[in-house]
Amino acid sequence: MSSQNHAFYESVMRNFDKAAAHANLAEGLLEQIKVCNAVYQMHFPVKIGDEIKVIEAYRVQHSHHRLPTKGGIRYADNVDQHEVMALAALMTYKCALVDVPFGGAKGGIRINPRNFTENQLERITRRYTTELVRKNFIGPGIDVPAPDYGTGPREMAWIMDTYQQLKHGEIDSMACVTGKPVNQNGIRGRGEATGRGVFYGIRRLFHKDYTDVLAKLDLTPGLKGKTMVIQGLGNVGSHTGTISIKEGGVKVIGIAEYEGSIYDPNGIDVAKLLDYRKDNGSILGFPGTTTLDNRMAALELECDILVPAALENQITAENAPRIKAKIIAEAANGPVTADAEDILVKKNVLIIPDMYINAGGVTVSYFEWLKNLSHHRFGRMEKRFDESQYNKMVDLVIEMTGKTLSERDREQLVHGADELDLVRSGLEDTMIGAFDTIMAEWKENPTIETMRTAAFVVALKKIGGDYAMLGIFP
Ligand code: NAD
Repeated sequence: MSSQNHAFYESVMRNFDKAAAHANLAEGLLEQIKVCNAVYQMHFPVKIGDEIKVIEAYRVQHSHHRLPTKGGIRYADNVDQHEVMALAALMTYKCALVDVPFGGAKGGIRINPRNFTENQLERITRRYTTELVRKNFIGPGIDVPAPDYGTGPREMAWIMDTYQQLKHGEIDSMACVTGKPVNQNGIRGRGEATGRGVFYGIRRLFHKDYTDVLAKLDLTPGLKGKTMVIQGLGNVGSHTGTISIKEGGVKVIGIAEYEGSIYDPNGIDVAKLLDYRKDNGSILGFPGTTTLDNRMAALELECDILVPAALENQITAENAPRIKAKIIAEAANGPVTADAEDILVKKNVLIIPDMYINAGGVTVSYFEWLKNLSHHRFGRMEKRFDESQYNKMVDLVIEMTGKTLSERDREQLVHGADELDLVRSGLEDTMIGAFDTIMAEWKENPTIETMRTAAFVVALKKIGGDYAMLGIFP
């Protein structure tokens, strides 16, 4: 058992307890919401070269108050039961916050994927899926995995294929997992979803409605020109960076990655940096940037927004006193420990909690699941019809006003929504709605100390309401 993972689990439990005091729910109900409903630890053999390797893996279903349960699968060499339990619990609260009608779950395989070939990873993934099917821990109405740290669309495609081989003829089988490649029953916009959601959440904070919150941080509304530092340029961090620059006008001045960290006060072009890393295998040496002392150094840069997007336990009681960011947007799950949060709150740092800010992934996973169950691509039925109606309206206005319109302007005006437009619109609406709900809860109850506690309280009230509806507590 890793002490770091145990500390992460304890942090989640401590945060739950803080919120429970404000949720006004019966003690037994709170206990039921807190505990993990089902924990499956497995060991299975996989032949690697001439050796048989025993693989340790987990699937935890935290809450069955809504089904299916939902949560990513992580491949990392520090995976253990406490980590997966903590992440599964966060999924329950996250789904409730953004009104995604699932219980929380999480999976993990204790391997470093860098140490295995593609073929070996495929065999490990397929064997893991077989174990899940055997124990009834996967299925469109049971438990639906997704990507997480160390996994992506490729692994999700292997999972779907294995499931379908074992469940031949099950008509909704492709909804057994989300985050699949678009050409294999995935959905457009899933890859960028978590990073895009992080961007929408941060942008909402900078809306003029939150001028008073920003003033307390010595910040003004409007995201343009604000400085950002990102830790981890994987799926979540890279999209957060590129979208924040392109659509928000943010200046990314520092990046921390596995190999080290870099700084450029004039702003780093994250899209170009990603190409550079692909070619050179490292972010270090990217033209115009200075290499900092070590991997963690960028986290201590002075900036408006720090986005830890790598792993949990990155900001601890040890480095928290040196953090100079005004806002921390927890793109990763659990990057700030509970002890570090106590220090940061005293320093007036606003932490936008993980269970809200990185909920974009599960939101779009929900859209993918809906798409799979409906067996139909969003926008397919109405796109052309809408365009022809808009064209008629534009013609009418031109006829009435005598004004002309360029082809380009017409195209933009009459554009009917396709799948990507609808996914982004649904995601934006979800992130804005959840942000406003959390802030309203916080405002209503000034004894709540942090945005995290306010988010937890919102989630607990919703889950508590679900249990009441289930009639479990007559
Ligand atoms: P990923 O594997 O795509 O990327 C992680 C990146 O972090 C990699 O580039 C890795 O090199 C880097 N990294 C690892 N250790 C580091 C360190 N010590 N310092 C700096 N960089 C380091 O993973 P991801 O899917 O982007 O997930 C990142 C975090 O976001 C995880 O906490 C995950 O649980 C969370 N998350 C992911 C999703 C999703 O949709 N993928 C959704 C919600 C939350």
